[in-house]
Amino acid sequence: MIVGPSSHFKENQGIDWQNTRLDINKIPEEVLSFGSIDLFEDRLGRKIGAPILAIKGKKPGPVLGITAAIHGNEINGIPIIHEIFHSLDPNELKGTIIGVPVINIPGYLNYKREFIDGKDLNRIMPGKARGTPSQEYAHSIFSRIAAYFDYHIDLHTASFGRINSHYIRADLTHPVVNELASLQHAQIIVHTKGPVGSFRSASVKSGHPAITIELGNPQVFQNKLTVEGIHSIENVMKYLKMMDGDIIQPRIPPVICKKSYWVRCFDGGILEVYPKLIEKIEEGSVIATLRDIYGRDDITYKSPEAGIIVGKNVNPVVSTGDRIIHLGVIGDPPPLSQP
Ligand SMILES: [Zn+2]
Repeated sequence: MIVGPSSHFKENQGIDWQNTRLDINKIPEEVLSFGSIDLFEDRLGRKIGAPILAIKGKKPGPVLGITAAIHGNEINGIPIIHEIFHSLDPNELKGTIIGVPVINIPGYLNYKREFIDGKDLNRIMPGKARGTPSQEYAHSIFSRIAAYFDYHIDLHTASFGRINSHYIRADLTHPVVNELASLQHAQIIVHTKGPVGSFRSASVKSGHPAITIELGNPQVFQNKLTVEGIHSIENVMKYLKMMDGDIIQPRIPPVICKKSYWVRCFDGGILEVYPKLIEKIEEGSVIATLRDIYGRDDITYKSPEAGIIVGKNVNPVVSTGDRIIHLGVIGDPPPLSQP
């Protein structure tokens, strides 16, 4: 049930979605509407519904979907969605914009990245009907909501114990995805097709160009990043001709990385990581030292190659295999694929 109206736009008539799927035809025009789509039943048999914000313009245009918190403790996208939907003039919009401020409802309620069965929803998209709890939930997200998007922006942050720059994950060989990425007010753009099962890659695979925006740190709102995220999404809407206006270029162009990866510990102990976010480092730069629990200096870690710090570990307590830095390798991505 769409339950509008919003605070400053005209009332809608209360269109019934029956909470089953995102039916674009039933969204009233030129009104901000609020709704819910059922995805799952919890252990008490209660329905879990994803909150939906929707605006459909009178003039035709694409459906742009903006989703946040598929990792339940990655919440920086929520104020971006709120701000966009509550400030956009529905009379000016062409096409439809859909916002889902929280995708992983159980994770959000428990301040956790994963779903209730401990699985990462962003590795099993588009899910599976008649599968495990997380596969079923992922399938509902994809088939009932994301399948109706023409373009998709998925908002993330770092995970617990880590911090991120403001960076974009995108398959830069895909011509449209490349354009969407180039419109972003980000510090870094990383070319990546995967990981397999991510919401972004599942959207691209089903024919809907998609990018991931990574914005800062878990379980906090960071206002500066909210503003940059809004500029980025407005640029996408202008590019898609959903709203008028000139595309605003970022003040500092993003650094393009042809790939990125995590440099990891090969022992456990107490870790101190030295480089700052977006700092450029050389091959062989000292990136961290590891002490043992007696406080004795033990191991010095060096960067395996030159690059830029996309993200870093800030949790000093590490075991073998834990992350140190997310290293972006600066360089041109592979050429565009042919349409
Ligand atoms: Zn995430």
